[in-house]
Amino acid sequence: MIDTLESKESSIDRLGCFSKVAIAGNSYIADYEGERISSDEAVARESDPHREGVYTFWLNDEFVIDGYEKGNVLKYLNHSCTPNCTYAITNERIMIYSCQEIAAGSELTIDYDYDPDIDLEPCLCGTEQCRGFINNLTRA
Ligand SMILES: [Zn+2]
Repeated sequence: MIDTLESKESSIDRLGCFSKVAIAGNSYIADYEGERISSDEAVARESDPHREGVYTFWLNDEFVIDGYEKGNVLKYLNHSCTPNCTYAITNERIMIYSCQEIAAGSELTIDYDYDPDIDLEPCLCGTEQCRGFINNLTRA
């Protein structure tokens, strides 16, 4: 499935991850790949001004997958408050799934579900159900 994905300019933010083909609902797409690093290293990288963009995906409180250098096209997944994809996380892997039927040419999105306790990040998803922030303020 990874070969049918491509990065293109997105109306949400810079580059996005798009599917060249239609995807059935509830199907596995691919793993979010990258370097497995500690959470301390991830925090340092996230605030490093010399890095263009942040591609860290947190597995849990201790470990993070960083797609910055070793990631695949899924590192361009943008956030949406009404996403068409979701993910399943184990200690080692982040598996991306569709959560609805997706038409060919569509941008794939997930809910970043940022912690409500970190700095609020305005959301640009533009969907009707946009909650205004990427942070999930309903999460206690
Ligand atoms: Zn939104």
